[in-house]
Amino acid sequence: MTLAANGRKTRIVILGGGFGGVYTARHLEKLLRRRKDVEIILVSRDNFVLMTPLLFEICSGTLDVRHCSFPIRAFLRTTRFGEATVQGIDLERRIVHLAAPEQKGELSYDQLVLALGAMTNLTMISGSEHAFTFKTLADALVLRNYLIERMERADVEQDPGRKRRLLTFVIIGGGLVGVELLGELTAFMDGIAPLYKHVNRDEIRFILLQAGGRIMPEIDPKLADYGARVLRRRPGTEIRTGAFVRSIEPGRVHLPEETIEAETIVLAAGIVPSPVVAALPVEKDKHGHIIVDGAMRCKSHPEVWALGDCAFVPAPDGRPYPNLAQHALREAKVLARNIHAVLNGKEPMPFIYDTMGMMGSLGHGKAFGQLLKMRVYGVLAWFVRRSYYLLQMPGWGRRLRIMIDWTFALLFRPDIVKISLDSERALLVRLAASGSVPASAPATGEAAPGKTLLPDVLEHKST
Ligand SMILES: Cc1cc2nc3c(=O)[nH]c(=O)nc-3n(C[C@H](O)[C@H](O)[C@H](O)COP(=O)(O)OP(=O)(O)OC[C@H]3O[C@@H](n4cnc5c(N)ncnc54)[C@H](O)[C@@H]3O)c2cc1C
Repeated sequence: MTLAANGRKTRIVILGGGFGGVYTARHLEKLLRRRKDVEIILVSRDNFVLMTPLLFEICSGTLDVRHCSFPIRAFLRTTRFGEATVQGIDLERRIVHLAAPEQKGELSYDQLVLALGAMTNLTMISGSEHAFTFKTLADALVLRNYLIERMERADVEQDPGRKRRLLTFVIIGGGLVGVELLGELTAFMDGIAPLYKHVNRDEIRFILLQAGGRIMPEIDPKLADYGARVLRRRPGTEIRTGAFVRSIEPGRVHLPEETIEAETIVLAAGIVPSPVVAALPVEKDKHGHIIVDGAMRCKSHPEVWALGDCAFVPAPDGRPYPNLAQHALREAKVLARNIHAVLNGKEPMPFIYDTMGMMGSLGHGKAFGQLLKMRVYGVLAWFVRRSYYLLQMPGWGRRLRIMIDWTFALLFRPDIVKISLDSERALLVRLAASGSVPASAPATGEAAPGKTLLPDVLEHKST
C-alpha cells in the first residue's frame, strides 16, 4: 500500500467528462482494480458524455435529445463522480476549486488529469457573441428551436426583405463541423419546408463562409471536393471560400466588400481551451493548449497530465495531434497506463498514433470518409459512419434507441416540434412583460379584446 503523505488514499482527480476524461477513468479502473490504496474521482459540469459526431442529428430531430449522449455514472464502476464546475486550480497547493448550485468546495489531488476540452473561439471575429455556437447539447437544441421559429415567422411574414432575412442561414467556418452542420440543416429544411405553405424551398438560403482556399482543410482534398459538389446541388446553398468575415452584428455578417443580412448566424470557425486552462501558469502554445511531453505529462508539474482538446500532445515529428475524438479516446488509454506506471515507479511511455481515417456526414443519406488509405463516398460512407458511431455508443439499450430513431427518420418527415423549456411561470412573466396582461392576472390564453392574434396566420389558415 502506498498511501499519500497525509495518510489517505492516493487520489487521482480527472477534470472533464468528455471522451478524454471518461475513458481515462475507465482504463484506470481496470488497471487499478486491485489497488485499494488508490481512488479515482472524476468531476464534470454535466453528468453525461456527449457523442459530438451525433450532435448534428439533434438539431434536425433525427435523434432524440438524450440519444447522442450516455450517462457517466452508468459507464464508470469504481470512480467517484461529482457534477460540478471547475472554477480554478491551485497547482502549488494541489487543490481544485469547485462550484455546484449553492455549494463551493475544494478537492485535493496527488495526480491531476486535465480533460476540460475546448470552447468556440469568440475572440477571432468581432461581434462573435451575436452568433450561435455549436458545441454543446444546449447549442444544438437552441439552434433547432430558433430555425423552426424562423420558419414559423417566415410563413406569416408579408415583408419580402424581412422574410429573406428570416430565411437566410449563415454558417461561418468551413471545417468539418461547419460542413456537416450545413449538410444536416439543408436536408432538414428539404424535409420540413412543405409544412410551411407560404415558404417556398427556393426562398431558403444557406451560405457557408470559409476563410481558407477550400472547405474541410483537415481532410483529403478529393473528399472535400466531393462534399462541396454534393452540397452545392442543394437548393439555395452557397459555399464561399476565401471569405474573410470581418465582423458580426445582430442580423448581419460583414465581409470586406459585402454585408449579408441573416437572422441566423452560426460560428464554427475554431476552438480554444477553456478559461480554467487559460488561467493555469503552465507552458502553452499560441492557441492556449497546455504543452505536454509525448507521455502527456505537464513539463513544469509532473503530477499534472493533459489530453484531448485542451492539450498540445506532440507526435514524434513534434507537431501536435489534431483535436479529435478519435485521438482523445486513444490518448486516454495511454495516459491511464502512464499514471499506472508512475504509481508503480516506472517510466511513462509516449503516445504514438496514426489516424485510422476520417468521416463526415452530408445529410440525405450521403457521407464521405477515408478508412486507412481507402476513400468511400455516398450511401456506403453514410452506412459505415452510422455503424461506427453506433458501436462507439456504450450499451445495447442506447444503441437500440438510436437504431429506432434512425429507422423512424428514414420512414417519416422530420419533426418540427420545438423543445420548449419555458415553464408556466416563465410564460406568465413574458406575457406580463409584453403588456398584454397585468403581472398579477392569470393568463387565459386568449388574445386581448379588439385584437386578433397573428392576423396573417388566421387569414392564411382560414382559406
Ligand atoms: C459538433 C462536433 C462534431 C464533432 N465531430 C467529430 C467527429 O466526427 N470525429 C472526431 O474525431 N471528432 C469530432 N469532434 C471533436 C471532438 O468532439 C473533440 O475532439 C473531443 O470531444 C475532445 O474530447 P475532450 O475530452 O478533450 O473534450 P470534450 O469531449 O469537449 O470534454 C470536455 C468535458 O469537460 C467539461 N468541462 C469543460 N469545462 C468544465 C468546467 N469548467 N468544469 C467542469 N467541467 C467542464 C465539459 O462539460 C465536457 O464534458 C466534433 C466536435 C464537435 C463540436
